[in-house]
Amino acid sequence: MAIQLFDSLERKLKPLTPSHADGVFRFYNCGPTVYAPAHIGNFRTFVVNDVLRRLLELEFGADKVKHVRNLTDVDDKTIRRAREENRPLAEVTQQWTEKFHADCAALNCLPPHVEPTATGHIREQVDMIDVLMKKGNAYRAADGSVYFKVSSFDRYGALSRVKERELQIGSALSGKSHAADADEKEDVSDFALWKAHKLDDGDNAWESPWGRGRPGWHIECSAMSKKHLGETIDLHTGGVDLLFPHHENEIAQSECCNGVQFSRHWYHSEHLLVDGKKMSKSLGNLYTLDDLRKIEGPVFNPMEIRLALMQGHPRKQLSFTIHSIHSASEALGSLCHFYDALKTFAKPSGPNPRSTTTPSRQFDGVIDSLKSDLNFPAALGELFRATRESGNTSESDLLAFERALRVLGLKIPSYVNLPDDDLAEDVSQRMTIQKINAIPAAITTLAEKRWTAKLAKDFATADALRKELAGLGWSILDRKDGYSLEPAKK
Ligand SMILES: [Zn+2]
Repeated sequence: MAIQLFDSLERKLKPLTPSHADGVFRFYNCGPTVYAPAHIGNFRTFVVNDVLRRLLELEFGADKVKHVRNLTDVDDKTIRRAREENRPLAEVTQQWTEKFHADCAALNCLPPHVEPTATGHIREQVDMIDVLMKKGNAYRAADGSVYFKVSSFDRYGALSRVKERELQIGSALSGKSHAADADEKEDVSDFALWKAHKLDDGDNAWESPWGRGRPGWHIECSAMSKKHLGETIDLHTGGVDLLFPHHENEIAQSECCNGVQFSRHWYHSEHLLVDGKKMSKSLGNLYTLDDLRKIEGPVFNPMEIRLALMQGHPRKQLSFTIHSIHSASEALGSLCHFYDALKTFAKPSGPNPRSTTTPSRQFDGVIDSLKSDLNFPAALGELFRATRESGNTSESDLLAFERALRVLGLKIPSYVNLPDDDLAEDVSQRMTIQKINAIPAAITTLAEKRWTAKLAKDFATADALRKELAGLGWSILDRKDGYSLEPAKK
């Protein structure tokens, strides 16, 4: 079964396939603007794209997927931040790039194969604008900026179907007078390809055939995807907020410049809400990873955030709550114990060494659900159903479980190493697994929190949790590299 994914342009499910002779699937994902920490709404999109990347690699092979995600390191927001802090632009964007990378690593999001920056691709952007000027798709206005002439591209609006709506409203309302507020473009729907240097830009300007200035935001993705993936790519993704005008403009620029289809497939993930409301600074619900770290204290585990962000279908709005982190924590606790039990008692299936064992079909439902339009709720449902129903202890089940975790990008702490030699016979193994699985989720959650606190050297919290567990009838046996839970001796 091929991966089926909704295409925002054709508005239907379509199979994902590579189109180039080398068989490499070309995947472009719009990245962050590096002027502040990304919030969990941004990270929902990046987690969705990370699962997509992992699924593509499973489907086509790790060396047959090329993933490019850009960094916007020059625009109004980055320049304003640098000016406010009286620091060089590059220093500010470097700081927030490093923060973004650290947050991505905490959430176990794979780095893209290429992570190009807008300032590192000025020449490529100028070259594209030059072609658009020569072809008559762009013009230089009286203010010295270069604009894309939207009326020169018939298919403009196909992605967002905006032509029937905003464009008409916008033109009717404003025409020239509104446009003059901000710039000198001919039509309100035209957008900047090159912005003439303004005083506020400071030193952040580059030479071009149209004078000193800087690229408009949209052109960077067209130029960088062309450079690193070619003129036609297999998949372009981003949050739904980028669909218009950003992606609409990318299509217009790329297709007018290159004369071929830009992306064969478009995919957009929906907004994250917090407590059912849109995230905003004024509501104080614009959480970053560090905000959640502060709220959760020493028990903070970024995998809980990842799992909480994966709760809903990526094409539906998801309401995030602090409670959803705690539910994720319990769920991870039960996965952890299942994993430990499986690792401890999985017997090699036959005489083959581990490397030649193939995964069983135990967790195929997880992969199949993901291949069906990234259906996260179904995939997670399958994961937990299969762990509950698993009575098997074979090594191929272990491999199947590990594969499912890998595609979901869930890093499960494990305190058990795979045994070298045969353990006790089958019957007692199964009984022990049942025993381990019989530990209530609430207990494993407390034990997990205690272990995390201990690792964080927060011994007061760890001790309090140990006492709480003892009160509930469970004792913890610590080892050098982990712990186990046992019913407390009466
Ligand atoms: Zn973009």
